[in-house]
Amino acid sequence: MSVVEVEKVSKFYGPATAPVAALDNVTLTFGDGEFFGLLGPSGSGKTTLLRSIAGFVEPERGDIRIDGEPVRDKPVHRRDIGMVFQNYALFPHMSVFDNVAFGLSVRGVPKRAIAEQVAAMLELVRLGGLQGRRPRELSGGQQQRVALARALITRPRVLLLDEPLGALDKRLRQEMQIELKQIQREVGITTVFVTHDQEEALTLSDRIAIFNDGKVVQMGPPNEVYERPATAFAAGFLGDANIFAGRADGCNGGLCRVLLDGGAIWTRDTLPAKGEPVLIAVRPEKFALHPAGRGPAAGDEPEPVNRLTGQVLQLVYSGSSITYKVDAGGQVVTVFEQNRSARPFAPGDAVELAWAPAHSVRVEP
Ligand code: ADP
Repeated sequence: MSVVEVEKVSKFYGPATAPVAALDNVTLTFGDGEFFGLLGPSGSGKTTLLRSIAGFVEPERGDIRIDGEPVRDKPVHRRDIGMVFQNYALFPHMSVFDNVAFGLSVRGVPKRAIAEQVAAMLELVRLGGLQGRRPRELSGGQQQRVALARALITRPRVLLLDEPLGALDKRLRQEMQIELKQIQREVGITTVFVTHDQEEALTLSDRIAIFNDGKVVQMGPPNEVYERPATAFAAGFLGDANIFAGRADGCNGGLCRVLLDGGAIWTRDTLPAKGEPVLIAVRPEKFALHPAGRGPAAGDEPEPVNRLTGQVLQLVYSGSSITYKVDAGGQVVTVFEQNRSARPFAPGDAVELAWAPAHSVRVEP
């Protein structure tokens, strides 16, 4: 069942004569217990959507429902929502205990029940024993967990997270990602999460939506969006992608050919009419890199293999992997390889790129 339904929601800013759509006819549903990531460049509407669900922003058009009930006329505090922001917004003069207890105190929950619930919540976010500290006596990660505990203590129906890990350094951020996911699973709360970090979105989310210019350009489970990007924008925003521009040639037995200036690409996707422009996206890790002339022979593979010849321009060594830039007929192609060869390629080496037609994904402009 869907807990939050966002239906055809639009929000405009700016003068009525020249309005800017921060949200442009957005429709999304968030399922019970789902961890849903909103991903997109800065200014694409993610925060506006979160704030619309919370009630800080009122969209001009469309409906938002929580558990089937429209929230249009419900103020923020009656929407049964917990929120965590990047800057925590903890009460600096209050102890950890009082920060977490806040939502219960204002509801008039008896002191003893508060003490029990706060203690249990602090255990959940692994802060047991720190309840007497002030926020400034905690690390960034600990403060973030206090904010999470404070948002969860009232057992809200929906948890909204706006770049909650944005202020943490990389190492701590990765640790907190794992913890956040564990806590979310334990509590089983429907969570909507804003990030501009693609890796974070891929790691944490059950489903993600990619935003651009106030619109959802693609939505689905992370692996689906990653493997089957719908547009060149989605391909480039969630991961790296090489985009080849060519023209449709023809199809035969489920394999279609796209003609490039200096060669051809095979794909398993359908094509428009012969001669029409086509974009093909290939992820950098889908290529195999061979010395020139020593790539797989036509008969080696169960299906035709894509091949492009090129010259290594540059390599970036990152220990476990190597990223190459290869000039393939005038197009610079990014190739990602595990570092398992005894002698990596060097700039100037003549190489052959090979990949399977299934990894040539046709995308819209
Ligand atoms: P994101 O969270 O993806 O960075 P936002 O939702 O914050 O994007 O912003 C979407 C668009 O709406 C941007 O063009 C932004 O400038 C505009 N916007 C957001 N809030 C306001 C506001 N209070 N007044 C005017 N414009 C706003």
